[in-house]
Amino acid sequence: MDVDTIFALSSGRPPAAIALVRVSGPLAGPALRQLAGRLPAPRRASYAWLKDPASGLVLDRALVVWFPGPATATGEDCAELHLHGSRAVVAAVEDVLAGLPGLRAAEAGEFTRRAFLNGRIDLAEAEGLADLLEAETELQRRAALAMAGGSFSRLIDAWRERLLRLSAQVEAALDFSDEDDVDDGRTSECVVKCGALAGEISEWLVRPRAEVLREGLRVVLAGPPNAGKSTLFNVLVGSEAAITAASPGTTRDVLVRSVALDGIPFCFVDTAGLREDSAGEVEAVGIARARTEAAGADVVLWLGGKGEGPVGVPVWEVTAQCDRPDRVGKVGAHFLLSALTGEGVAGLRAALVAHARGAMPVPGEVALNARQHEHLASVRSALEAATSLFDPVLVAECLRSARSGLDRLMGQTGTEDMLDTLFGRFCIGK
Ligand code: GDP
Repeated sequence: MDVDTIFALSSGRPPAAIALVRVSGPLAGPALRQLAGRLPAPRRASYAWLKDPASGLVLDRALVVWFPGPATATGEDCAELHLHGSRAVVAAVEDVLAGLPGLRAAEAGEFTRRAFLNGRIDLAEAEGLADLLEAETELQRRAALAMAGGSFSRLIDAWRERLLRLSAQVEAALDFSDEDDVDDGRTSECVVKCGALAGEISEWLVRPRAEVLREGLRVVLAGPPNAGKSTLFNVLVGSEAAITAASPGTTRDVLVRSVALDGIPFCFVDTAGLREDSAGEVEAVGIARARTEAAGADVVLWLGGKGEGPVGVPVWEVTAQCDRPDRVGKVGAHFLLSALTGEGVAGLRAALVAHARGAMPVPGEVALNARQHEHLASVRSALEAATSLFDPVLVAECLRSARSGLDRLMGQTGTEDMLDTLFGRFCIGK
């Protein structure tokens, strides 16, 4: 199959001190030779005058590097052009590259996609890389680096090996039972090992997930109108983000703000007041959304009557506006605070941070995303199913299904759609 040679600006948008243009594909070498007049020694940076091969016009004086494949980032022949980072230089070089036969501009994530297709990285590493490029907080960076560095991939490889050994053991038991119609103990031993592996996988499945790292701990402020939600929300997010007013029902929809407290990502959500007898239709929509938000919360700060908050989610009872003499604190409320005077706010913040620390992945450890979690859960189910079986034929089938779950997890089998979505997250040039 003919593979296009692709090129793209891989560094940030010009103007910049340096602009890095990468070229990958079978014609990367000839392209570099045409521009630089020669092919430099592999993997050594060298200076070259870059010229338009058609007109002989000098484009730039650049540092160029030649990486012959397959031991390259993409697994293909690659060239790097470290140009002066002006728009005009980048545009001139890109124009010349686009004019060379067999070369075309890369699509978003195409370099990484090629790295994946050529086996240079697996799907988990590619996902880690996408997260690393999007990382905004220290916790996100460390988790993404762990995933991109292959520590999870190595664990999966080890699990796959164990599954293969178990399969071999069951196949042996199968041969045996064909002859004598008895199990020599190999199947039952294998079933015990399946249970042990399922247990190990379970430990991974209960760990905090990557989403909470990206989206932050979701804290929803809920309660009746005028309870003080918007005022407290503003104090917590540290800005005048929400509209506050004395008339009930001002926060018609939900307001979402992402902030980091002590370096931990939080997502605070201010909701419309929960009122059964709401007046307007718009407010009714807001209230419906408030209920949905509360249902998806990691923590609900409930500013209403004690025990009247949403069910099925962790609810922290809050008595707000405690500076008002007419306010009677809820009996046994976790938090008694005033957004106006600041009383109790630091305590609430500290409690949220402490809670979030427990709900976030351990710094530097791999955290599973939804897709990885789903496939790993299917592997565990297959292994658990095996533990209740005695027939080696059925156990072998469960093991096959567990192995195919691991293959899907690592992208050895998967759909194009999923790959399009993943690599679409990358920018052009990555
Ligand atoms: P929401 O409808 O629950 O969002 O309530 P708001 O935050 O809009 O507050 C309703 C009213 O109570 C506004 O007039 C606020 O100024 C006032 N308020 C909010 N928090 C406090 C507080 O801690 N102390 C006092 N004294 N008033 C507050």
